[in-house]
Amino acid sequence: MKALVLEKQLELNLRDIDLPTEVGPDDVKIKMHTVGICGSDIHYYEHGKIGQWHVNAPMVLGHEGSGTVIAVGENEKILKEGDRVCIEPQVVSKKSKEYKLGMYNYDQKVKFWATPPIHGCLAPEVIFPGDMVFKIPDNLSYAEGAMVEPLAVGMQGVTKAKIKPGQIGLVMGCGPIGLVTGLAALAGGCSKVYIADILSEKLKMCEHYPDLIPVDLSKENLSERVMDDTNGWGVDRFFECSGAVKAYEAIFSCCSPGAHVVLIGNNAEPVPMNWAILFAKGLEYQTVHRYSHQYEPSIRLLGSGKIDVKPMITHTFKFEESVLAFERAAEHRPTDVKLQIKIDEEK
Ligand SMILES: [Zn+2]
Repeated sequence: MKALVLEKQLELNLRDIDLPTEVGPDDVKIKMHTVGICGSDIHYYEHGKIGQWHVNAPMVLGHEGSGTVIAVGENEKILKEGDRVCIEPQVVSKKSKEYKLGMYNYDQKVKFWATPPIHGCLAPEVIFPGDMVFKIPDNLSYAEGAMVEPLAVGMQGVTKAKIKPGQIGLVMGCGPIGLVTGLAALAGGCSKVYIADILSEKLKMCEHYPDLIPVDLSKENLSERVMDDTNGWGVDRFFECSGAVKAYEAIFSCCSPGAHVVLIGNNAEPVPMNWAILFAKGLEYQTVHRYSHQYEPSIRLLGSGKIDVKPMITHTFKFEESVLAFERAAEHRPTDVKLQIKIDEEK
């Protein structure tokens, strides 16, 4: 089967590779339609590794996928042929303690698509356990279905933030994850959400979302802006989505007493922490590593129109252009938000 294979750092080929074709009793076979390019895919392409995960053998990229069910195993009772679906790209052992406790995203043995050595979904067909495959409603496109994966990350952060109606949020970083986190926070009850970035082109996306308030860090002082707008109180919910060490400083200058701080962007380096302010303000901290149980609520919010991710899909490539798509993604253009690859040209 032809798939997009990362041979090693900076070497990609659209080529034949042996992938599973047998549908097990609990599996479904999916004809892939659309796959989004994630920051992690680009990182593996550019650097050949992320943290402890090294690309030591050729690996198919892609984990943000949607498609159509074309075969089901004998134990699958919910899905049927022809269903339009998106795929939660992690296979978890039902015997793991993390799974039993409802936090399977912390199972260290989880098989996550396009995390070495597990192949991803940039291929015409994939096999996957049916319980991690979710139907999408007719009013959602396959492109939106492929956005459920990044949205699930924002939903996980917002769930951990325990938002109360009317609260004010602040998101650091206006990339795809910052945007979906801001939108999830609005859907979760925030009255408005500031979103801050050093690149003004990225903040242009806020034109589509009136309750996402852009703050251009190259021109504006964030804490002055936030404190002016909130009568010196600060924001109730803080989401770090930039991965920049500098962004953490805003926690101490922008958070209200009792604020919840959710760290979503990942840091390669240790980050200094102002414990005195953390103590004095009673800040509560949470971290996000992928997600668990977020696909169904994410699909419902997309289906109801309470979250609209369509403006974020800024460019779609054909499957044959997959290598080109990754070269483009590696340019990191600030106006590119989500690049997707359309595999199935028939629909
Ligand atoms: Zn992703």
